[in-house]
Amino acid sequence: MAMKTVVALPGEGIGPEVVDATCELLMGTGLPIKILTPPQGHPVPEETKRAAREADGVLFGAAGPSTSAVVSWLRWEMSAWAGVRPIKFFPGMHSPLADPEGIDYILLRENSEGIYPGREGDLADLVKLMPNLSDRTGRTVKEFGTEGRFAVKVVTPRGAERIARFACDLARKRQALGKPGKVTCVTKSNVLPRTDGLYHQTVERIVREAGLPFEHFHVDDAARRLVRFPKSMDVVLCMNLYGDILSDLGAETAGGLGLAPSGNFGDGWAYFESVHGSAPDIAGRGIANPTATIRSAALMLEHMGMSAEAERLDQAVARIYRDGKVLTPDQGGTAKTREMAQAVLAAYR
Ligand code: NAD
Repeated sequence: MAMKTVVALPGEGIGPEVVDATCELLMGTGLPIKILTPPQGHPVPEETKRAAREADGVLFGAAGPSTSAVVSWLRWEMSAWAGVRPIKFFPGMHSPLADPEGIDYILLRENSEGIYPGREGDLADLVKLMPNLSDRTGRTVKEFGTEGRFAVKVVTPRGAERIARFACDLARKRQALGKPGKVTCVTKSNVLPRTDGLYHQTVERIVREAGLPFEHFHVDDAARRLVRFPKSMDVVLCMNLYGDILSDLGAETAGGLGLAPSGNFGDGWAYFESVHGSAPDIAGRGIANPTATIRSAALMLEHMGMSAEAERLDQAVARIYRDGKVLTPDQGGTAKTREMAQAVLAAYR
C-alpha cells in the first residue's frame, strides 16, 4: 500500500487532546501513514494551506474562539460543501433513549449556503437599498426603523442540486447494503417559501428523478422525529443551520456529542473532524472522549482508499463500547482520553 500523507490540525480546547490520542492510535496501527502537523494561526499560514491542499487526508480537532480561522478556511474557503455526519449507535454507548439499538443514519448538512457563514449588516443599510422589502403580512423593512441588524440567507439551484445529488449517491450506497436508500429533506419551506422552498423543490425533484424514496419534514417536526423515530431515518438532508443544530441532537440520541464524527467533502478534496467543539468546560483534564475523532479518522481512511482498515477501526470502537471497561466519564467510565484511544488500538490489533 502506498504511503499516505495526513495533515493533523488540532484546533484548541480538547482538540489537541483528541487529535494527539487519535494520531498515536493511527501510528500504532502500522498503516502506511505519515502525519504532518503544520502551524495553525490567524490567518492560517500559507505553508499550512499548501500542506492541507496537497495531503491525502486532513484531520481537524475542534475550533474555539482563537482557531475559528482554521475551520473557516477548511469549510468555507476550501468549499467543503457536503457535511457527512453519521449518527450510529453502538451497543454500550450511553444514549438517553430507552431503546436506541438500530439507530443508524447519515445526517447530511449543506455546508456552503443558507444563513452561514454570517452575512450580516445594519438595518439602516438594508432600508436604504430595499425600503419596500416586505414579509408575507405586508410589513416592510422600513417599518422596523433603522436601528438594528439583518442577516442574509442564500440558496442557489446549483448549491441545492449538488447536495441533492450527493444525498442520492449516499442513499444508493446505503441501499446496496440493504438499507432503504431514503432521503429525508429538512427545511422550513412553509415559512420561507422562496429560499427554503427552492431547496425543498430542487431536492425533491432530484431525489424523485433518481427513483429513490423521498420525504420532507419542516425542521421543528424533524427535530421531534429524530428523537421519536430515529430508526426510520436513512439519509437526512438538512440546510446548513438546521444541520448544525440537528446533528448535535442526533449525536446525543446515539450516545453523546463526544462520539459523532464527520467528513466534509468539496470538489476533489475533503477534511474530517468531530461534530463537537473545543469543550472549554473539560479542556486540559485529559478526559475528553476521543471516539468522535477516531471515527472521523475512520472516515478519512475510507476516503484515502483504506476501506477495510476503516471498517476494522469502527469495529474496534464498537468492541470497546461492548466491553464497557475503558470509557471516558461522559460514557460512565473513568478512563482518560489516551487510555481509551489505546484500548481501541489494542482492539484494532
Ligand atoms: P462543545 O461541542 O464544545 O461542547 C458541548 C458540550 O459537550 C460540553 O459540555 C462538552 O464538555 C461536551 N463535549 C463535547 N465534546 C466532548 C467530548 N469529546 N468528550 C466529552 N464531552 C464532550 O460546544 P460549546 O461548548 O457550545 O462550544 C465551545 C466552542 O467550540 C465554541 O467556541 C464553539 O464556537 C466551538 N465549536 C466548534 C465546532 C467545530 O470546530 N466544528 C463545533 C461546535 C462548536
